[in-house]
Amino acid sequence: MQILRLAVISPMRSFFDYLPPVRMAEKAVENLQPGIRIRAPFGNRSVVCILLEVTLSTNIDKSRLKNVLEILDETPLIRRELLELCNWAASYYHHPPGEVIAAAFSSKQRRGLPVSELVDYGWTVTSLGEETIKQGKIAMRAPKQASLLNLISKSGFLGREYISNHASHSSFYALKKKKLITLEKVFPKVLSRSKKQDVALNHAQKQVLSSIKNNIDSFKCHVIEGVTGSGKTEIYLQLIHLALKQQKQVLLLIPEINLTPQTVLRVSERFDARITELHSGLTDSDRDYSWRLVSEGYSDIIIGTRSACFAPCSRLGMIIVDEEHDSSYKQQDGFRYSARDIAVKRAQIENCPIVLGSATPSLETLLNVRSDRYLHHELTERVGGASLPNLTTIDIREKALSGGLSSTLLRAIKNTIDKGEQVLLFLNRRGYATQLQCHRCGWIAECEDCDVRMTLHKKTKELRCHHCGKSARLILSCPNCGSKNLLLEGIGTQQTEEKIREAFKGTIIHRVDSDNIPNKAAMEKLMESVTQRRPCILIGTQMLAKGHHFPGVTLVGVLDADSLLFGLDFRGEERMAQLITQVSGRAGRESNKSHVLLQTHHPNHPFMQAIVDQSYSTLSKYILDDRGTRDLPPLGYLILMRADSKYQADGEHFLKSIAERANITGDVKLIGPLPSAMPRRAGKYRNQLLLHSKNRTSIHKAATKLVSIGDKITKRNKMNWFIDVDPVEIC
Ligand code: ADP
Ligand code: ZN
Ligand code: ZN
Repeated sequence: MQILRLAVISPMRSFFDYLPPVRMAEKAVENLQPGIRIRAPFGNRSVVCILLEVTLSTNIDKSRLKNVLEILDETPLIRRELLELCNWAASYYHHPPGEVIAAAFSSKQRRGLPVSELVDYGWTVTSLGEETIKQGKIAMRAPKQASLLNLISKSGFLGREYISNHASHSSFYALKKKKLITLEKVFPKVLSRSKKQDVALNHAQKQVLSSIKNNIDSFKCHVIEGVTGSGKTEIYLQLIHLALKQQKQVLLLIPEINLTPQTVLRVSERFDARITELHSGLTDSDRDYSWRLVSEGYSDIIIGTRSACFAPCSRLGMIIVDEEHDSSYKQQDGFRYSARDIAVKRAQIENCPIVLGSATPSLETLLNVRSDRYLHHELTERVGGASLPNLTTIDIREKALSGGLSSTLLRAIKNTIDKGEQVLLFLNRRGYATQLQCHRCGWIAECEDCDVRMTLHKKTKELRCHHCGKSARLILSCPNCGSKNLLLEGIGTQQTEEKIREAFKGTIIHRVDSDNIPNKAAMEKLMESVTQRRPCILIGTQMLAKGHHFPGVTLVGVLDADSLLFGLDFRGEERMAQLITQVSGRAGRESNKSHVLLQTHHPNHPFMQAIVDQSYSTLSKYILDDRGTRDLPPLGYLILMRADSKYQADGEHFLKSIAERANITGDVKLIGPLPSAMPRRAGKYRNQLLLHSKNRTSIHKAATKLVSIGDKITKRNKMNWFIDVDPVEIC
């Protein structure tokens, strides 16, 4: 008896066995390929499933097996390698396989819709249009239309991506109405040509490139630890060139959607190749289209954020993960995977090289270097000889601060602006003030639904919770005692901006946080303005710390360097070293005199001194040794189970009974149930169990136990819980 083993696209952890469609010939069933979609009955509805295998045995009572309803595809939508990757990820992250496989599908595919023919719609110039160009008739009256007409004529064909990204629809339709252009259906072309010559690499870059080149045809994980501005991206570009020459696709992962324009620009200037962007800013239909371009091999270079690690590349030849240390690579809800780790596994399955690049590699990666699993390449100097900025602390104990700025820092800002240079101020808190308190009775404005204080936003006159997004009108008197004497505590970027505007009238000032720069387009505009190199002051959150190039910045001020010094999480030191190195790295990319000033109340704290005196590569070695003494990741393993519930006791009981039944012993420690560091968020109480072990196999076994007990209990009481393997935040 032939059995179809299916993964249902739903949050169900197990596989499901079915019988083939009624009256399907045995031979035909044999030929069904893993990865095709199948519609199957499930309860009183029908669901889309993926075929995992055709087998002859099942643990289910055969009389209870149902026939599937319909075979949806002739050929698999998902290649064998990607299916293998998904299966690995489902088991490693203890996540329902159907949901993991769904991550490798576009939304249309997930819904079971038929796969349509992949066509490009593009514009071409008609003979009337060509005639018009020749006679120059159009230019006088409609310059926009004229330049568009010329562009289409020159490129021969203008694809759909261009229309949605660049030109106004009205120009297209005006030209169409005049019958100067027509919309044509064209099969996409593979372009892959190099446009510009490769830059001559310096000695250090050459060494890295040639070492990677030696292993270009098989799996090897390379780490490029290169200080900011040392030419890592240039190496990526030459690696892409090598892959393109071999007709292979390159997957380039970046941590953040805001970095796409900059990256796409740099890549597209170099190559005449088809570049596909994959990120959360795409509409469903664009994403679906991009997905198809990638899977059918029309796309050469895929630039994407986290979820692109599942991009359905059909001729993948290389993966590059830029800023590999960035915690945005870890998905923080639903299927909690690390895109970097998935990418490494993927490269292994696809047998292609992978490059992890960063100025501040994660300790996970550095441990793999230490144990010779990954190949380490170092770039210790900036290209062109620009020196790295020098770091100094500003002792702000008992100093007057205005908008969080000391007079020393203000003076340094003035000097820099007077010299015609640019300043970057870093403060990782948006809003105006982080706390509103009554000076008479002590009442504090807190979120109704979370255990956190509300942040004051002055411009919009509201109090906002930065965790659940809830907002309330700004109050002018205390709801508890009626006093109008309200205190503002905790400086946010808006307050710093206000003070800076007062102190530097006439200077260009940009506030860069998610309130002010809500999307990719706003970031693009900002970058355009800043790269014009007029003196300006940038005030921003970690948005500014990520990989952007600000060639004119020569002074970086960190307003509150202490904010990470006493973090609750064991990753605090690593994060602080990375953040300060990254923020500092924005300075002086083209100059020899750049400075970073760190305002602190703890100038003598050993770690603060270490950050000032030592390079990240030295510092990271100490931190790694220290983790070893406490068996903490990456030298030990953590898996977290969290339950979110409306009443505190429910989640706690749920976890407690799982812990009791699981009876974890041996080399795995089970801690909890305990409330999370933020015990309540968005109206839900958060409780957790933490598994900790030095042994990877044991901890995963323990997690399997927790999950299976959790699944059983959940059926009865509908608890909302999840498991997080290698959590980036445990508090
Ligand atoms: P990173 O990615 O390490 O920050 P980039 O690759 O962006 O460094 O290089 C920093 C700057 O130096 C860029 O403007 C880049 O164009 C330039 N650059 C990189 N390598 C070279 C080289 N070999 N010769 C000349 N300029 C280079
Ligand atoms: Zn009061
Ligand atoms: Zn809230």
